[in-house]
Amino acid sequence: MARYDVVVIGAGNGGLTAAATLAKAGRSVLLLERHNIPGGCATSFCRGRFEFEVALHQLSGMGSDAMAGPLRGTLRDLGVLDKVEFVQMDTLYRTVYLDAVDITLSADWAKMVTQLQDRFPKEKEGIGKFFDLVHNFCLQMISGVFMGDPAISREKYPLYFKYAFKSSQEVMDEFLVDPVLKAVIATYWGYMGLPPSQLAFMHLAILLFAYTQFKPFHIKGSSQALSNAIAEIFLENGGEIRFNCAAKRILVRDGKVTGVETEEGDRIDTDYVVSNASLIATYAELIGAENVPAEQFRMMSGSTVGTSAFVIFTGLDCKPADLGIMETTNFISATIDLDLAFARTKTLDPPLTMLLSCYDVTDRDFSPPGTCQTAIVTGQYAEPWLSVPPSQYADTKYRYAEQMLALVERVFPGYRDRVEEMEVATPITHMRYLGHPGGAIYGFNQYTKDSRFFVPPTSPIQGLVFAGAWVAGGGYQPTLMSGGSAARAVLKSVRNR
Ligand SMILES: Cc1cc2nc3c(=O)[nH]c(=O)nc-3n(C[C@H](O)[C@H](O)[C@H](O)COP(=O)(O)OP(=O)(O)OC[C@H]3O[C@@H](n4cnc5c(N)ncnc54)[C@H](O)[C@@H]3O)c2cc1C
Repeated sequence: MARYDVVVIGAGNGGLTAAATLAKAGRSVLLLERHNIPGGCATSFCRGRFEFEVALHQLSGMGSDAMAGPLRGTLRDLGVLDKVEFVQMDTLYRTVYLDAVDITLSADWAKMVTQLQDRFPKEKEGIGKFFDLVHNFCLQMISGVFMGDPAISREKYPLYFKYAFKSSQEVMDEFLVDPVLKAVIATYWGYMGLPPSQLAFMHLAILLFAYTQFKPFHIKGSSQALSNAIAEIFLENGGEIRFNCAAKRILVRDGKVTGVETEEGDRIDTDYVVSNASLIATYAELIGAENVPAEQFRMMSGSTVGTSAFVIFTGLDCKPADLGIMETTNFISATIDLDLAFARTKTLDPPLTMLLSCYDVTDRDFSPPGTCQTAIVTGQYAEPWLSVPPSQYADTKYRYAEQMLALVERVFPGYRDRVEEMEVATPITHMRYLGHPGGAIYGFNQYTKDSRFFVPPTSPIQGLVFAGAWVAGGGYQPTLMSGGSAARAVLKSVRNR
């Protein structure tokens, strides 16, 4: 029977970085992936003459050589920076609330604040105070929490303790009046999947801070280039990958990992498993309830499966400027009532908010000459889709897509006439390709108690560690970095044995 130091289940961002870090540390590692390519969400696919980016709209945490963000260090240590080119965006986003406001915000902190003050002059002072708070709050969160200050206290980090767990809405309400202004500032709520009334202030604050300090990025050649590069580094360091090979069981005896069984019936001996699959599938299906302490299920029962996504991928037979697409990142919303927009993500009624990304605006080689591509995404939970009978699935999907395109037409007239290629993904598509419950793209809903400050990568099963969105929170930066944490937890355990 084959034996490896570690078996990694799943080649999403977290699984890939865990596997590469462990292989670089000299461990023998087998990576099992049920799909035929590496990346999980971080992949691409081809239709006609277009290669479509599946997931990445804006990469956070990169920064520049001069002002390196936390992700840059992780990717440099892995050797990724020698293999992949990252493309910086100069603006955070254009956000259009139909019939209310149309504003583009710079990714430069001072410019962004001035732009908001110029557009909402009556709130100049409140805007200044709010962004001072965001800035100082984030500095305290970075020093106290991210850097792990052992002397963290309410006295030393008063802003952090006062505001971290308040809702974003509550904190905006303290400083700002105009609901349109608040909707503009909260535009990134979609990246966390919760509206400002339910989103902890720390999440909105760190999004605004991180994207302005370290800028939003995209990846030359799509996020598949990044996933391929990490897989390549893993192989160069002696790792082995099996594609089209799902893990079926994690074998556990007396509370300890002893091996893994694949869907093909192979048994692999190992003392360590890093799971990039969901916590739910790992405990309930791969291990089995009989081997998991009941306390673990009790803890998970307080969490809810997070949002999936509905995405329209289009290849257009024109340049972005021909349609007036001047920004890479364009949010389009039909309402400033973000609670209502969130409620819609749990129904099949017309979506009220969406994001249209056009990578060709910042990267002119992204699509074939004379063309461009867009990804139009809106948050969607799986439940309503699971009740659509198979015979009505295609009609429902295209009707839903039509409703989104109608909104897009209001901002970019003539858009539909330029569509050469189109593909649509629903939460069912994400369930199929990721294997996660509800096709969740960010793991559990990111309520404060489920945020990465409270969910460790380790588990009550000795030798089982997690990497990815279900423990780290969703998004490229947290999941790519979570692989390193998982690998370090394994290496520490090996040293202490
Ligand atoms: C449409 C869309 C847009 C997004 N936009 C952004 C964005 O702009 N910025 C951002 O930061 N994030 C974005 N995200 C979120 C981000 O892509 C994800 O949170 C992140 O990639 C998840 O990484 P992960 O490590 O959790 O693994 P996942 O991507 O969830 O991959 C898990 C992997 O495990 C494999 N697997 C599961 N079970 C098994 C098994 N039993 N055996 C073997 N393999 C298994 C799956 O096949 C998959 O490859 C977006 C996601 C989507 C879908």
